[in-house]
Amino acid sequence: MNLEYSADEQAFREEVRAWIAEAYDDQLRALMAQSKTGYLDKEGQRRWQKKLHARGWMAPDWPAEYGGPGWTPTQRYLFQAETGMAGCPKVSPMGVKMVAPVIMRFGTEAQKARFLPATLASDIFWCQGYSEPNSGSDLSSLQTRADRDGDHYVINGSKIWTTQAQWADWMFCLVRTSREASKQAGISFLLIDMTSPGISVDPLPLLDGPMPGEQEVNQVFFDNVRVPVANLVGEEGQGWTCAKYLLEFERGGTFGSTLRYQLDKVRQVAAAQPSDSGGRLLDDADFRRRLLELEIQVEAVDATELRLFSAVSAGTSIGAASSMLKLAGTETLQAISELAVEAIGPQGWPFIRDTWAEVYDRPHAPRAGPDYAAPVLPRYFNYRKTSIYGGTSEVQRNIIAKQVLGL
Ligand SMILES: Cc1cc2nc3c(=O)[nH]c(=O)nc-3n(C[C@H](O)[C@H](O)[C@H](O)COP(=O)(O)OP(=O)(O)OC[C@H]3O[C@@H](n4cnc5c(N)ncnc54)[C@H](O)[C@@H]3O)c2cc1C
Repeated sequence: MNLEYSADEQAFREEVRAWIAEAYDDQLRALMAQSKTGYLDKEGQRRWQKKLHARGWMAPDWPAEYGGPGWTPTQRYLFQAETGMAGCPKVSPMGVKMVAPVIMRFGTEAQKARFLPATLASDIFWCQGYSEPNSGSDLSSLQTRADRDGDHYVINGSKIWTTQAQWADWMFCLVRTSREASKQAGISFLLIDMTSPGISVDPLPLLDGPMPGEQEVNQVFFDNVRVPVANLVGEEGQGWTCAKYLLEFERGGTFGSTLRYQLDKVRQVAAAQPSDSGGRLLDDADFRRRLLELEIQVEAVDATELRLFSAVSAGTSIGAASSMLKLAGTETLQAISELAVEAIGPQGWPFIRDTWAEVYDRPHAPRAGPDYAAPVLPRYFNYRKTSIYGGTSEVQRNIIAKQVLGL
């Protein structure tokens, strides 16, 4: 693995830094300072993504023929590292990172022309309709049915935990098109217009008690929803192949820079907080030890990412190793959020919505505690999700055991 950056790569990093300094403006920074998820509301998200698009940097992983910047894996890594370390909003992943590679590989020319440019320009947003009330880890047991009626499918059933379904213009959805075939072979991959008659979206509040505008996950119901057969991606019954291909992209993101950024925030909080013995919390021996342990963990995640990206630049596919990144990245993220909670102590309490609902319902009421304490507890509760979504930690361990270690 080569850890030296060439002169061109260093110049590229400077170019990215200069662009971030200008594009990541004060308004976006103020919104992000209070975001517990790393994302903004739809309008904020669209504003940031349009800036990326205008610069040609919206989809670092896309091939140039579809509008990607044509970067090397090292440039992609540097871009993720710089935007992560600057605390920039993350790009809504369901479009450019998840459904787009599936459309590129399995979609028709008409689907590519219709969906790829609009997704790149953030003119449409997507949600992922995989999980159902009784099908999560065991996804291939899904029951939402698509019955053929002429040149349409008629959809009935329900999807759950659907992130951003309340904004999404389109859903990529796994449906059962056959009950005779084996569990996997009966599944198809459909693109569904979220404005279709018969779709309803019910919000599901999470543990962090979302404020208005912060709604994150939903249950989506389909009642005789008609979807043109032209919206089928790949062949009927090929949905499981598409679904697995997509999951490699969902799990294979980079975490190193985000982890460094979050740990740096904890360090700043600990420098401002008093310790029990009167000095700064940052100088407390026990706290420092735990901070350093996490720093080592972050270095290990970053080194693993670099090693895998180095292999990708040499032509290897990331494959099941994406499960290693997902597992180590999310569990470290949770550990950092736990240390942040300890750093602010009781100053975090006023920011838990369920305990202080009457304060939250008066938006201009003064809130106790320093501003930096505001996102810490909501973020801690919110990050419990990271070891569940995209496949739980237990499921990732099973994949690593079987497909990476060959056990
Ligand atoms: C915040 C959030 C956002 C999400 N967003 C989306 C989305 O946008 N679209 C979407 O389709 N889904 C989404 N999901 C759903 C997510 O993918 C599922 O929750 C996840 O796959 C787990 O499924 P489940 O909830 O049905 O739990 P279950 O599968 O019922 O698992 C329950 C427990 O059993 C364990 N378990 C299950 N099988 C095994 C096994 N074989 N070996 C060992 N342990 C096992 C699990 O690890 C878990 O601890 C989201 C979930 C969350 C929390």
